[in-house]
Amino acid sequence: MIGALSLQELQQRFGGELVNGSVTFDAVCTDTRKLDAGALFVALKGENFDAHEFLGDVDGKVLGVVTERALSGSRMPQWVVADTNVAFGHIGRLCREQFNGPVIGITGSCGKTTVKEMLAAIFGQRHQVCVTQGNLNNHFGVPTTLLSLQPEHEVLVVEMGASGPNEIGYLCSIAKPEITAVNNVMPAHVEGFGSVDGIATAKGQIYTSLAPGGVAVINADDNYADYWRGGMPEGVRNLEVGFGHQCAVHPDNIELDGQGRAAFDLVIEGVSHRVQLQVLGEHNVHNALVAAGCAYAADIPVKEIAEGLSVLSGVGGRMQSFTASSGATVIDDSYNANPGSVSAAIELLAQRAGKKILVLGDMAELGPEADKAHREMGALARERGLDQLFTLGTLSAAAGTAFAAGRPHILRNFSERESLIKALAPELDGNTTVLVKGSRSARMELVVQALTNGR
Ligand code: ATP
Ligand code: MG
Repeated sequence: MIGALSLQELQQRFGGELVNGSVTFDAVCTDTRKLDAGALFVALKGENFDAHEFLGDVDGKVLGVVTERALSGSRMPQWVVADTNVAFGHIGRLCREQFNGPVIGITGSCGKTTVKEMLAAIFGQRHQVCVTQGNLNNHFGVPTTLLSLQPEHEVLVVEMGASGPNEIGYLCSIAKPEITAVNNVMPAHVEGFGSVDGIATAKGQIYTSLAPGGVAVINADDNYADYWRGGMPEGVRNLEVGFGHQCAVHPDNIELDGQGRAAFDLVIEGVSHRVQLQVLGEHNVHNALVAAGCAYAADIPVKEIAEGLSVLSGVGGRMQSFTASSGATVIDDSYNANPGSVSAAIELLAQRAGKKILVLGDMAELGPEADKAHREMGALARERGLDQLFTLGTLSAAAGTAFAAGRPHILRNFSERESLIKALAPELDGNTTVLVKGSRSARMELVVQALTNGR
């Protein structure tokens, strides 16, 4: 934590009751298997767990607890609250209030983690930067990030995800970002929002939450850019990023090499510097522009931004390239999938020389649009000239069928991972690129492991 807090100040500010007095703490733990005698324990609840069930094990082993039910017979200081998850947010909020450096908030349908890692690479060259670890981007992850702030940190980058309306507003009320961006809006997690318009409104809360003096980094190429500009609070400065030369932050002279790595001139308000991305795919030029806009709003010079972007070598599970023992290039994009990121993957494959194979697991959380979305991906893969589409699962079978329409001999739909891997093996050689992708629940990383272990 950035500084110490006491239960008393939490109770005075946010209500609830103190039992057995107050205690001062500078560390928090939430897992009964990893207790820390010098920390405050918060009894969180999730869909599949309730730490209150284990409070008996915690008694006497930590400084104090935050709980919804006072522990009878215990002498530990306790802050008894109506909702421990909200209380956890309050602790994060107070940590944030102790921090004086710039705070950047990133949301969007895809590319949040990538943009965050780009910002970590940019700032990390000269500054102490605190960033969201992994993908901890929800009502638990954001306070966790704020709790990880240390006195030496100079800048804070927070990834914010949402699976329903008002979640971004809530996360912003805690993290209070001053420079914010919606990376893009695409049909992802549509189930929780009702519609794509619903997604745009929900993500737009990252702009409507800005205080005067804040900077809104706007993706000018997004269909909703005008909608967000129209709802911007008073006193917020817009910084436009996009492929058009009218944008304050834009690329020039984009070149893509045979691997799918882009180089471009990063132009910001007339100053230009060459970027050589290591991460694959043209969509990463867009991600780089958004990261560049955020870094520039935090006063980082263009040259330093360009150098940082050129350093980032990859983000685990997102389009990482390996050579398998068969000689084939395997691109691991198994981390997640939605129509936007599958389209980006198809574009990347389409640009490669040699034989191109997409291995697709199901895209989850698409609601009633699921079947249509999968068919569209199959049709796009065909239109962009991919050689083969292997699918795993019932939803992605619709993609396979669309891809193979009228060509039944190339249909490669599988319901079991092992049979897919077996059928794929003879296709692999030095002239082949295989890109593996699917939603988290499809566990496509197991296919990547099998391919890269040369099984
Ligand atoms: P999550 O919602 O799971 O946190 P995220 O928004 O953090 O996802 P990433 O983890 O960076 O996104 O990337 C997820 C997937 O989207 C990867 O397959 C990646 O290659 C792809 N992707 C990243 N950026 C873009 C983009 N700008 N357009 C389309 N696809 C993208
Ligand atoms: Mg993420």
